[in-house]
Amino acid sequence: MWDMSIRTHFGETMTRNNDADSDGGGSVNRREYLKLGLSAAAATTVGVSASGRAAATPSRSSYRIREGTDEETTVYVTEAVADGPTLMVTGGVHGDEKSGYLSAGLIKDWDIDAGRLVVVPEACKPAIEAGTREFSDGDLNRHFPDGAEEESRLAAAIWDVVVREDVDFLWDLHSSYGIYESGDGGVGQALFATDAGDAGVHSKAIRDYLNAEVLDDSLDDVYDFREHTHHDDGSRDMLKHKVGATLGTPAIIFEATEKLSLDRRVKHTTAAVERFMHRFGLLETLSATESANDLSYDGDAAAVDAPVDSNGVRSGLTFGVTNDAGRELTVTDLAIEPANAAIDGLSDHSYDEGRWTSELYIDADVQAGLTDVNNGLALPGTIDLATDGHSDDADRVAVLSPGSSATVSLYQFESGGNPVDMVGERVEVTVGYTLADGESGTRTLALSP
Ligand SMILES: [Zn+2]
Repeated sequence: MWDMSIRTHFGETMTRNNDADSDGGGSVNRREYLKLGLSAAAATTVGVSASGRAAATPSRSSYRIREGTDEETTVYVTEAVADGPTLMVTGGVHGDEKSGYLSAGLIKDWDIDAGRLVVVPEACKPAIEAGTREFSDGDLNRHFPDGAEEESRLAAAIWDVVVREDVDFLWDLHSSYGIYESGDGGVGQALFATDAGDAGVHSKAIRDYLNAEVLDDSLDDVYDFREHTHHDDGSRDMLKHKVGATLGTPAIIFEATEKLSLDRRVKHTTAAVERFMHRFGLLETLSATESANDLSYDGDAAAVDAPVDSNGVRSGLTFGVTNDAGRELTVTDLAIEPANAAIDGLSDHSYDEGRWTSELYIDADVQAGLTDVNNGLALPGTIDLATDGHSDDADRVAVLSPGSSATVSLYQFESGGNPVDMVGERVEVTVGYTLADGESGTRTLALSP
């Protein structure tokens, strides 16, 4: 929790900034909706989530920087009812480091118990759209010299956010192509902390947590996370260095290796940030990590030209999930949110029921799940497996035995009624489930077919 010793440590009393355009405030996002829906069955007191966390809803707002340019990007601000420190998280400073911006895109939706969370998920949008490290002005993470002007308008706009939000700690999420000490030149799985503040203490603790509790035991030791503090603050023109050197504010660069699957990178990145938020006082419990262990994503999302029409458009989507809960797991809900707002519907246009002839099919081993949504589903939207179908035969939850995998098939993604080729698109899918002992949870998967 936020206490006076932390406040004293960071010096200045925080100033609240309420000048954000409130285009995101007030609405309950789908994850909260799902959580509340699931907890209604599990808890007798309205307003208490399934994890037992009090649901004092934080307020949300957002604003844009570099508006009207191709660098335009959104800053998301979540403010808890309880007082606490301000954490800023950046992703996509390098546009080819997917796990950074996908993780930040998930983190921006998290509820917090105290303090403020400021997230810039897609810091360098032109580079993300091009899938490149740099944008037309070069490497954004070399534009932040200590004691001098930022070297691009985008860098200046991001620096303005750091200053105006009066950030107490910054995490900058990256990935690395290689593995540390393997001779390939990559930094691998690493945390780089500032000299400023107690970033080094936090990064060592997060490193130990990841290595002991998050990394699969089957992974070779070279995948262990390392912690580095050997570059003095300000010795390089990176965002983290400028935050440490110019403001005296602690910061951490997080690197996940691309030698592991995107799903694992996202899991490691989000687990690190969640654990930090718990240490720093923004989160009381670690529910996201705990529930993440019940269901894992097989990292195999694919866009499919369904045989039902074979029209050359890969408008179907498949991905695999595995039941890691050690108990029978029932998939009850699926919330689907494409990153591309133009993708506005999921509809199979068929009166038959089955894979590719219903919007949703899950080939689970105990019971296959199937939902034939009446007139299709508007996206973003949620499929309730048990009640959305238009006949008794067309709505069935999916049941997975312990350790089993199932392939989820969704068909077909549309824009204005026309099929959309899903290659290169990004879709966030939040799976709601219950376990044999009555526990429930959700797992959000970042799919990029
Ligand atoms: Zn990077």
